Amino acid sequence: MNYTDYETGAPIADTKAPDGPIAERWDRRRFEAKLVNPANRRKHTVIVVGTGLAGGAAGATLGEQGYQVEQFCYQDSPRRAHSIAAQGGINAAKNYRNDGDSVHRLFYDTVKGGDFRARESNVHRLAQISVEIIDQCVAQGVPFAREYGGLLDTRSFGGVQVSRTFYARGQTGQQLLLGAYQALSRQIAAGTVTMHPRTEMLDLIVVDGRARGIVARDLITGEISTHFADAVVLATGGYGNVFYLSTNAMNSNATAVWRAHRRGAWFGNPCFTQIHPTCIPRTGDHQSKLTLMSESLRNDGRIWVPKAPGDSRPPGEIPESERDYYLERIYPSFGNLVPRDIASRAAKNVCDEGRGVGPGGQGVYLDFADAIRRLGRDKVAEQYGNLFDMYQRITAEDPYEVPMRIYPAVHYTMGGLWVDYDLRTTVPGLFAIGEANFSDHGANRLGASALMQGLADGYFVLPSTINDYLARTPLGDRPAASHPEVADIVAETEDRLNLLLAVDGDRTPDSFHRELGELMWEYCGMSRTEEGLRKALERIPQIREEFWQRIKVPGTGDEFNQSLEKANRIVDYLELAELMCLDALHRTESCGGHFREESRTPEGEAARRDEEFGYVAAWEFPRDGRAPVLHKEALVFEHVHPTQRSYA
Ligand SMILES: Cc1cc2nc3c(=O)[nH]c(=O)nc-3n(C[C@H](O)[C@H](O)[C@H](O)COP(=O)(O)OP(=O)(O)OC[C@H]3O[C@@H](n4cnc5c(N)ncnc54)[C@H](O)[C@@H]3O)c2cc1C
Repeated sequence: MNYTDYETGAPIADTKAPDGPIAERWDRRRFEAKLVNPANRRKHTVIVVGTGLAGGAAGATLGEQGYQVEQFCYQDSPRRAHSIAAQGGINAAKNYRNDGDSVHRLFYDTVKGGDFRARESNVHRLAQISVEIIDQCVAQGVPFAREYGGLLDTRSFGGVQVSRTFYARGQTGQQLLLGAYQALSRQIAAGTVTMHPRTEMLDLIVVDGRARGIVARDLITGEISTHFADAVVLATGGYGNVFYLSTNAMNSNATAVWRAHRRGAWFGNPCFTQIHPTCIPRTGDHQSKLTLMSESLRNDGRIWVPKAPGDSRPPGEIPESERDYYLERIYPSFGNLVPRDIASRAAKNVCDEGRGVGPGGQGVYLDFADAIRRLGRDKVAEQYGNLFDMYQRITAEDPYEVPMRIYPAVHYTMGGLWVDYDLRTTVPGLFAIGEANFSDHGANRLGASALMQGLADGYFVLPSTINDYLARTPLGDRPAASHPEVADIVAETEDRLNLLLAVDGDRTPDSFHRELGELMWEYCGMSRTEEGLRKALERIPQIREEFWQRIKVPGTGDEFNQSLEKANRIVDYLELAELMCLDALHRTESCGGHFREESRTPEGEAARRDEEFGYVAAWEFPRDGRAPVLHKEALVFEHVHPTQRSYA
C-alpha cells in the first residue's frame, strides 16, 4: 500500500437515483424495482451482519418477507448492539406541534446541516420515510414520551428551529432496539432468521466478482467458518473507535467495512467524522472510553465559560456579568442549539483562549440553574433524570447543584462504504446500511438523524431494493467451501490470526490502539492542517511496522481470546487511519465537521470550496503497491442551494 499519494479514477456517473420530481423519486424507484415472487423468496438466503437498529430492522423485515436470513453479531445477544446507547431521540417530520415542520423542511435542514455534501435524492427519501418510522415503532409498542393529552412528545435538537425529535427519556436507542429485537426474535422463532451471536465476520467472500458470503470466527471457540448467501448486507456500525477514545461502545470496530473495502467496495468520505460537543471531559491517560451527555440537554442547559482567561473560581462564585454564554452571544438565532460541528469548534476555541474549565482547562459549563428555576427540579428530572444520574455517577458532581462540565469528543462517522441510491456498494451483491455506509448526512450529522437513517435503511429502503438485485441476478449455485477463491480468503484470515499470535512481542494491543488514537485526534480530529496530516501519514506506517514486530497476543486462537480480537481489529484501524488522513489531506476545504485551518472565513468559520470539492470522495483500495484511486461523485443541488451556513 502507498498512501503518500493518490490517483484520480473515473468519476461516478450514475448513483441510480431516479430523476423527475424529487418527492416522487422513491415511489418511482420502488415501482420500477423488480419483485421476487413470495413463493420464491424462501429459496434466497441473505446474510445480514449486525443487529443494531439498521441490521435488526433489516433482518426482521427480510424474514417477514419470506427470505432466509443468516444474521451475525459479536455480542452475546442481538439486543446488545451499540445502538442501545443512543440517548437523545429520533427525528421525524410529523409536525405534531404545528410549528412549521414538513418533509421538505426536514430535507432542507438535513442537507444544510450536512454542509451540502449529501445527496438530495437520498436525503429527501429519508425525510419522507421518517414519518413511517414513527408509525412502525409505535405499532411495535416503543414507549415514546407522551404529552399530557396523549400525543407523542417532541423536543428540539441542534441546527433546527422546530421541535421534531421523538424520544423515550434518555434511552431512545434502547427502546427502539427493543422494538427491532422483538421483531427479529419473532422471525428467529418462525425459523426465517438464524441468529449467530458471538460470531465476528473477519472477511468478505467474493466469488466471480460477486459477494457470496463471509468468513467468521466463533468468539468462544475460535472456530473459523464460512457462510454463503445470495447477497450480503453489512450493518456493522461506525468506525469512530479508530480514535481510541470515543463515545462508541468499546467493541465497535471497522473490520467488516475495511475487509469489504479491501475486497473491492469503495470507501466514501472516510475523513468525515463527527465530533460531539457534549461529552464528559477526559480525566487522564487511564481512560479507555468517553461518555456522551445527550444533545437534548442543550434544549435547557446553557453553555458558558468565564470571560477572563485563567479564572479558576468555582462556577457558583462567578457572577453573571463575568460569564460568557458564548453560543448565545455569537449565534443569537440558534443559541445553544447550533449544530454539533459549530458547537464543538466554539468550545475548542474558548478553551484554546485559556477560558476552559476543569482539569487541564479542557471543558465548558453546561448549566441548568436557569431551567431548574423556570421549570422546577421535578420537571428537569423528568426529562433528563437518567442523564443527570449518569453524570453524577461518573464525575461525583451533582448537576442539579453545580453546572456539568462538557467537552467535544469523537462520536459518529459520516464516512463509510460508498453506496448508490439502492444501498448497493461497488461489489455486486454487497449492500451497506446504517452507520456502516457513507450515509445521508454529508459532512456533519444533525442530532437524532442516525437512528432515523438506520431504521429507514433497515425497515424500508433495503427490503425494497434488495428484491430488485435478487430478482434480476441469475446467481446459480452457491459456491462450496472448497472453491479456490473461498479457500484463499479463508487461508488469508487464518494466516493473519496465526501471525498475530506468533509475534510474541512486548506491547499490548491497547498500547498500539491508544498511540494511533492520540495521533488521529491530534492531526485528523476537530481541526486539521496540511502539515499535521502529513506528519500522521508519515507516522502511521511506522506504528504499523512496530505493531507487527512487537505485538503481544497471549493465549491461542482456539479459545475465547479478547487480545486476539483487539489485535485483529487494530490491524484494520492501522490501514483505515491512513485512508482517513489521505482523504482529509486531499480535501483542502473546511466543511462540516472537517475543519481545515487553512480554509476559513474572515470570521473564523469553516470556508467551503464548492467549486472544487462539491463531491463525494469514493476511494478504491490500492492494488499492487500502487496509490489509492479517488473516484468523485459530483453532488448536484437543485432544491437546496449551497450557501455559507449561518446560524447567527
Ligand atoms: C453514546 C451515543 C449516543 C447516541 N445517541 C443518538 C441519538 O440520540 N440519536 C441518533 O440519531 N443517533 C445517536 N447516536 C448514533 C447512533 O446510535 C448510531 O449511529 C446507530 O445506532 C448505529 O446503528 P447501526 O445499526 O448502524 O450500528 P450499531 O448499532 O453500531 O450495530 C452494529 C452491529 O454490527 C455488529 N458487528 C459489527 N462488526 C461486526 C463483525 N465484524 N462481525 C459481526 N458483527 C459485527 C455488532 O455486533 C452490532 O450488532 C448515538 C451514538 C452514541 C455513541
